[in-house]
Amino acid sequence: MTEQRNNSRSATLFHQALAAIPGGVNSPVRAFRAVGGQPFFVESASGARIHTVDGLSLIDYVCTWGPAILGHAPRAVLEAIRETVGHGLSFGIPNPREVDMAESIKRFVPAVQKVRMVNSGTEATMSCVRLARGFTNRDLIVKFAGCYHGHVDSLLVKAGSGALTNGEPDSAGVPCALAALTITLPFNDKEAIRELFSRRGREIAAIILEPIPANAGLYLPEPGYLELLRHMCDAHGALLIFDEVMTGFRLGPGGAQELFGISPDLSAFGKVIGGGLPVGAFGGRADVMDYLSPSGPVYQAGTLSGNPLALAAGLTQLRELEHGGGWARLEQIGLAFEQLIREALVQTRTYATFHRIGSMFCLYFCEGPVRNLDDAMRSDRARFARFFHECLKRGVYFAPSQFEAGFLSLAHGEDELEATARVVREALAVSG
Ligand SMILES: *Cc1c(COP(=O)(O)O)cnc(C)c1O
Repeated sequence: MTEQRNNSRSATLFHQALAAIPGGVNSPVRAFRAVGGQPFFVESASGARIHTVDGLSLIDYVCTWGPAILGHAPRAVLEAIRETVGHGLSFGIPNPREVDMAESIKRFVPAVQKVRMVNSGTEATMSCVRLARGFTNRDLIVKFAGCYHGHVDSLLVKAGSGALTNGEPDSAGVPCALAALTITLPFNDKEAIRELFSRRGREIAAIILEPIPANAGLYLPEPGYLELLRHMCDAHGALLIFDEVMTGFRLGPGGAQELFGISPDLSAFGKVIGGGLPVGAFGGRADVMDYLSPSGPVYQAGTLSGNPLALAAGLTQLRELEHGGGWARLEQIGLAFEQLIREALVQTRTYATFHRIGSMFCLYFCEGPVRNLDDAMRSDRARFARFFHECLKRGVYFAPSQFEAGFLSLAHGEDELEATARVVREALAVSG
């Protein structure tokens, strides 16, 4: 595998990249460290496929980590960008699309009464945390082990050995003093959250979570869990923040909060909402959002926020999804994909746990149930790495880590799914 790539263009480019870019990549998981080997470089992408600089065509289940929900390079989005680009690239003063986008988000997500645009998911969650602290005049943030909220200092923290004691930074460069203000709990553990709130409820500014955690693979909240979090926040004057950067506009127009019928106080968005360009958004209760500058005391700003090109792409993608019955079709594609994968698991007698919701999925190489990070860690990662490379060799690209969710798009048709099922069957058989 690696040998075969040694004289490829990807190998040459990666060699050059290593000398000029830390680790050779602009975002760590792209470096393939979790599965070994080296990344391929992409020439172009269209529909469900990406085309490498070495002339390979791969069926893509990463979908640029979520945004490419219509498939790569959808015509409508490209046309919207072409049309918009002729009017200028950035104005730094309001443009009509900002109103259009804000109203669209409000219509799709009823808990969002006011919304502000940013340029990434990280910016969205970071701003939610600052706003929650400013609004409640409290400092503590509660998050869950295995939930990723971008590379925000306060959120790059997971539990130390005593889950309820002070946080330990997960990254060098995050001051312990800041990490100590983030408390990390195990997901789906009702007792842990009750116990924490009974002790420190009055100090807690917010709970932030992925309502469907999808950065440690993919697992679901158990019945009643999100309701409990909502209740605890209400009872103690804390805010509930849903990080829907991945689930927003993917699992349905209203994201996970619509699926589970829970209204968070604040929500963070990104990925799908930008149609492949750099966009994030955060919004929620009007009284909380009005705490933002210039109407309130919490500062937040952005030179390129509300960028017309990015909003044109995002708005067009949302419209395509809505008018093309996109979410219902994604559920059908997801169901068909799930059936094929489950058949392959049975045929190859593989012990694994397959999770899917809508167009997101994860295959863990361990027996279930997988309901939190500790469970996810039981997956056989060496097996995953072998499986990953066997699939890639055969033209199917899954995310290069056990702990990333997979994504389907509207461009994943029957042909792609059936070809994938064949590849998965072979890869399972030879990687076991
Ligand atoms: C990707 C992601 C982020 C970070 O978004 P960026 O655009 O990469 O900064 C935050 N939260 C969740 C749940 C994500 O999946």
